[in-house]
Amino acid sequence: MASLNLNGIEKSYGSLKVVHGIDLEIADGEFIVLVGPSGCGKSTLLRMIAGLEAITEGEVRIGGSVVNWEAPKDRGIAMVFQNYALYPHMTVEDNMAFALQLAHRTPADIHERVDRAAAMLGLEAYLKRYPRELSGGQRQRVAMGRALVRDPKVFLFDEPLSNLDAKLRVQMRTEIRELQQRLKTTTVYVTHDQVEAMTMADRIVVMNAGRIEQVGTPLELYDRPANRFVGGFIGSPA
Ligand code: ADP
Ligand code: MG
Repeated sequence: MASLNLNGIEKSYGSLKVVHGIDLEIADGEFIVLVGPSGCGKSTLLRMIAGLEAITEGEVRIGGSVVNWEAPKDRGIAMVFQNYALYPHMTVEDNMAFALQLAHRTPADIHERVDRAAAMLGLEAYLKRYPRELSGGQRQRVAMGRALVRDPKVFLFDEPLSNLDAKLRVQMRTEIRELQQRLKTTTVYVTHDQVEAMTMADRIVVMNAGRIEQVGTPLELYDRPANRFVGGFIGSPA
């Protein structure tokens, strides 16, 4: 369990600045939904938090400690992507175990963690299958399982449901939120779906062109959008 603090985070690619001075304090156990138009810097921000992208300026703190110079694997962060990124030639079980093997966990520990994650996600019957033998929803659960087995302090989700059909999306939304409430893992969840944002978030962060426009609970943003952009994005009159 840990808080996540962003302090003056910036990202430039050459002379092009795509993230401008992001300040955000996320409480331990909070579920933050990050929304904003395509290209506004959501994925770049998540990747900097995860350590997959160098931070041009600013500090990322997890549980109070600056992690800027820590390798991704040491930050206690697990990230779930839109395109699952499962290993096609590995079974479900091996997909979930892989990162733990790299971290030199004992076989008994790996087994226990994989079994526990599989039970939480309803994947017990699928452990010996390959990704191609699974439905879209099952693949997304395996992707979540790979994150879960590591007992992360922070979950990052980058549009994890956008490849699923509408009905499954609604179901997975509920599953992700229930799982997060059970584990109380601090979470940043990126989506471009307003309904997803309004129904899942403790607080919503609205980004535009590399900056934060407004932060608030779904009701605060709906009732009191700071400007037309937020109103338009949240679907309330501004
Ligand atoms: P979002 O996830 O909100 O759609 P991104 O974080 O992917 O936005 O991208 C933010 C901006 O940074 C975009 O203008 C994108 O073109 C640019 N960008 C992303 N990655 C790179 C890169 N490796 N090199 C140059 N520009 C990039
Ligand atoms: Mg993105």
